[in-house]
Amino acid sequence: MILLSKKHISAIFLALGLTSLSSCAKHIAVNAPLIEANTIAQNLVSTVVAQKPNSPQFGQPIDCTLGKDCFILLYFDRDPGPAAVDFGCGRQTYDGHDGTDFGIPDAKAMAKGVPVIASAAGKVLRVRDGVVDRRLQNDTDKANIQGTECGNGMVIDHGGGWEAQYCHLRQGSVAVKPGAPVAKGTVLGMVGNSGMASFPHVHVTFRYLGKAVDPFVGPDAKLGCNVARQPIWDKPLDYISTGLIRAGFASKPPDMNAIWQGQFAETKLPLNSPALLFWVQSYGVLKGDREQYQLFAPNGETIVNNTNEIKAPSRTWLGYIGKRNSTNSPLTPGVWRAQYRLMRGDRVLAQVKREVELR
Ligand SMILES: [Zn+2]
Repeated sequence: MILLSKKHISAIFLALGLTSLSSCAKHIAVNAPLIEANTIAQNLVSTVVAQKPNSPQFGQPIDCTLGKDCFILLYFDRDPGPAAVDFGCGRQTYDGHDGTDFGIPDAKAMAKGVPVIASAAGKVLRVRDGVVDRRLQNDTDKANIQGTECGNGMVIDHGGGWEAQYCHLRQGSVAVKPGAPVAKGTVLGMVGNSGMASFPHVHVTFRYLGKAVDPFVGPDAKLGCNVARQPIWDKPLDYISTGLIRAGFASKPPDMNAIWQGQFAETKLPLNSPALLFWVQSYGVLKGDREQYQLFAPNGETIVNNTNEIKAPSRTWLGYIGKRNSTNSPLTPGVWRAQYRLMRGDRVLAQVKREVELR
């Protein structure tokens, strides 16, 4: 964890960098109503070659709209060695990750229920339920789930040599039984946080003749990134390797756990709050990316206008700026506005605006 602090000036600026970790268990907490957030799709580097007439057509395994109420955080690792690279030559994967992770905003969304759905018709081979939903945070948590890394989930035979394994479903939500037929889109259960997972998501591994396949490139693609590819998805899924997860205001420095719980989403805060902080959680930031944070008082005055350069790549990133409430320089009542932009070179990769009322 990195802490950059400039507390001696009236506006405080702090950034927490969360280092990337090495297993599904160690996914960083992620959450995110993406409402109002503007994440720009990145250009794909590799060409899609025509699909074979008999190629499989798999749907996304989660009933949500990508970029709106869910997002892909981690892709398949295409590096054969100890390094890790996703198919777009980005870093949104880790060594040995053999599937795709579809994340949802936070524990509140998880409690409400986001369906995991069958990517294609098939027959249920195996299921597991009863594993508790707990966000993994350390090695003890990890040791406790040994043998149940997939958490609650199922393996489905999709025919023609294809299987898919769906992981980390919510405890008690598994809705199918071994031997049962499923149609494409059949609800299998709800997205959860069971097994080796540190944010609510469904991990899906596709296998062809027993071998894990990156769904974005297909079974015949060469190893590595930027290769000719034949996706097995039934429609193109955007590759967005850097984007916004969530943003909001807080009256004290936000911590990752609370953010994962869905806290710090207030639209009103008491005028006597000790500070007013504008925080942004993003993913896939790279060294040299620049973040601009701006905070405006109700009278339009610019209180903070900071640009910060990212010092190291991070799969998830939490940064914030703000103003302390002091007798010399009190917070004023009314609607405060904040704005964030994430830039790489000349390109704006993501931006978001937020408002909060102090009263
Ligand atoms: Zn995963």
